[in-house]
Amino acid sequence: MAQVQLSTPLQFLRGIGAARAKLMAGRGLQTVADLLFYMPLRYEDRSSQKRIRELAPGEMATVMARVTSLHSKSLRKGSRLTEVVFHDESGGSLVGKWFHGAWVADVLRPGMLVSLYGKVELESYSRSLCMLHPDYELLDAGAEADLEDLGGQGLHTGRIVPVYSSIGKISSRMLRGLLHGLLEQVEPMTDALPSAVSEPLRLKPFWQALRETHFPEPGAAVRDLNRFRTDAQFRLIFEEFFWLECGLVLKRRRARREPGIAFELNHRVREQIKRMLPFSPTGAQKRVLKQIAEDMCEPSPMLRMLQGDVGSGKTLVAAEAAIIAMENGYQAAVLAPTEILAQQHELYFRRLLQPLGYEVLLLTGSNGSREKTIKKRAVEHGLARLVVGTHALLQEDVAFQKLGLVIIDEQHRFGVMQRFELMRKGVSPDVLVMTATPIPRTLALTIYGDLEVSVIDELPAGRKPIETRHIPESHIEMAWSLVRREVDAGHQAYVVYPLVEESENAARKAAEQMRQHLQHDVFPDLCVGLLHGRMKPDDKERAMDEFKRGEIHILVATTVVEVGVDVPNATVMVIEHAEGFGLSQLHQLRGRVGRGKAQSYCLLVTARMSPDGEQRIQSMVATNDGFRIAETDLQLRGPGELFGTKQSGLPAFRFGDLLRDHDILEHARSEAMAFVDRFDGKSELHAAHEYLREHWQRRYGLVLVA
Ligand code: ADP
Ligand code: MG
Repeated sequence: MAQVQLSTPLQFLRGIGAARAKLMAGRGLQTVADLLFYMPLRYEDRSSQKRIRELAPGEMATVMARVTSLHSKSLRKGSRLTEVVFHDESGGSLVGKWFHGAWVADVLRPGMLVSLYGKVELESYSRSLCMLHPDYELLDAGAEADLEDLGGQGLHTGRIVPVYSSIGKISSRMLRGLLHGLLEQVEPMTDALPSAVSEPLRLKPFWQALRETHFPEPGAAVRDLNRFRTDAQFRLIFEEFFWLECGLVLKRRRARREPGIAFELNHRVREQIKRMLPFSPTGAQKRVLKQIAEDMCEPSPMLRMLQGDVGSGKTLVAAEAAIIAMENGYQAAVLAPTEILAQQHELYFRRLLQPLGYEVLLLTGSNGSREKTIKKRAVEHGLARLVVGTHALLQEDVAFQKLGLVIIDEQHRFGVMQRFELMRKGVSPDVLVMTATPIPRTLALTIYGDLEVSVIDELPAGRKPIETRHIPESHIEMAWSLVRREVDAGHQAYVVYPLVEESENAARKAAEQMRQHLQHDVFPDLCVGLLHGRMKPDDKERAMDEFKRGEIHILVATTVVEVGVDVPNATVMVIEHAEGFGLSQLHQLRGRVGRGKAQSYCLLVTARMSPDGEQRIQSMVATNDGFRIAETDLQLRGPGELFGTKQSGLPAFRFGDLLRDHDILEHARSEAMAFVDRFDGKSELHAAHEYLREHWQRRYGLVLVA
């Protein structure tokens, strides 16, 4: 057989046919290299061998014994149980049991010497020791080697053994055998990590680290292995994070070198900002505006993220930044993730900016084509100073006369890749990304590693913490009586429905029915409104306006209100089927109330609940702190699901795990920054560049280094 290469497709390996290759491809494993980077899930210490007479029921143990006999019997329901009796020189006997184990008779024959690993149990009638489905290994020479035994002797038992997540029918055991074989056959990979980085840290060579991660040396600390902190494991994780951070540092530097606009912050600009402000900004708002203004005055393009919990007043800061751009003769664009949020922003910015003479315009997909043409012309000729649209705005053929600032409202929907689309569009305007998801620091470093970050960590004065309560569906009247009390006191309420089983239609129906029910049966004397995603834009706008003006007392809605809606007079948020929402989403929804001085309430109504659902509800009741909520969410769901890896641009790591390895990530980050600084313009950095371009661009698509 030809030499096995890293790039050899898996299906050409001995023992892997098209079917198994397909299973592996389903996990993203195409080539030998992919499989070599398939990491153990955990490790088991099978190294201490015992004699059968020394075994105690309940323990996990490895024994070496000979097959004395095999029996097979039928059980009810047609399955078969195969029992194999083993003896060793201590004189003890042990029964191995396999359900559906007809194949065992093909592998084990009387007289064979076998090593067994499994949990020792005591059979109640016969008082004999047994193991159910023990892992085994043939120790006699001459045994037919099949795929499972590729690795040779002493692989599955009698040592510290890696346990892999099985892939369909490909068991951990088969993977172990395959990997062991591959590590012997493949030409070792050389180190890509610059020696200037690896030497001072005394990192093991890559290939050695890879081998030891799969097959730890005898005597390795199993505890460290299972914490993924042996030197070998550290080496692999560190390198992966190093390249990621290196790419991000380079990208950030490149962005800094692009020509941008140096805005001027003079007396007139300051006066205009003062005239616009409806209230005095909080200390945190002042601080972040200063950071933003300093960036805007630099001649390189700004790339800054504005992070702040819901209701912390990000939009006001964005309006201040827009004034800086507009007073300098530039236009500003505001991009929102949904059309309804774009409408909300337009109203908000118009209210603040139009009185000062800045023309604000909304440009969305639902504009008629004639209307669109007219509006586009207004943008092109510079009549519109601030243009609000959805994220699609910049992908359409909208020509700005002089675009200076782009404000992207992501809330908690991540559109990181779109951000870079934007950057490549001709001149480089300054970019401010607003997000309401307080991302834990390690994730922010990764996802937004090339952005500067400003954080608003203070709510406007006079806000009272929202009181959050859990209400079982059977006690729904408690919710309605609180709504009644608040409306009687002059306030307003939201009642929100989740997307039931991913179906916008079902949620809409549930919301419609609830509106009927509330209007006719519960609050006949009040005005109950409806808002959902499928309504015509005009109808949506009307419903929102009526709610803003206080004509609608109770707004029944699907999750379209999740982001951005700002009605400070609303003090109650009732969330139906709250168990069906993710934590961040619940927190966003809760953020729709508590925006004024009055005490606000969030009522989480639940029907049946999973343990996860229960934990989410408890976290919500326990804290109003968005950072803590985000941490919990991350622990419950994991970063991949939380951010939707593809969509967020968050890479799928092979070795590292953002939750488990955040300390290594930070370490790698500081090493990467030091490396790039130290080797600026030198061949080491050039080589790293090349490596990143070749290996990371394709894999993560996020390293667009020049
Ligand atoms: P975010 O976008 O961060 O969720 P918003 O900018 O929508 O928050 O502000 C939430 C509410 O608080 C709005 O009604 C806004 O007008 C109000 N607000 C913002 N800043 C202040 C402030 N400094 N003092 C009082 N109210 C404020
Ligand atoms: Mg907002």
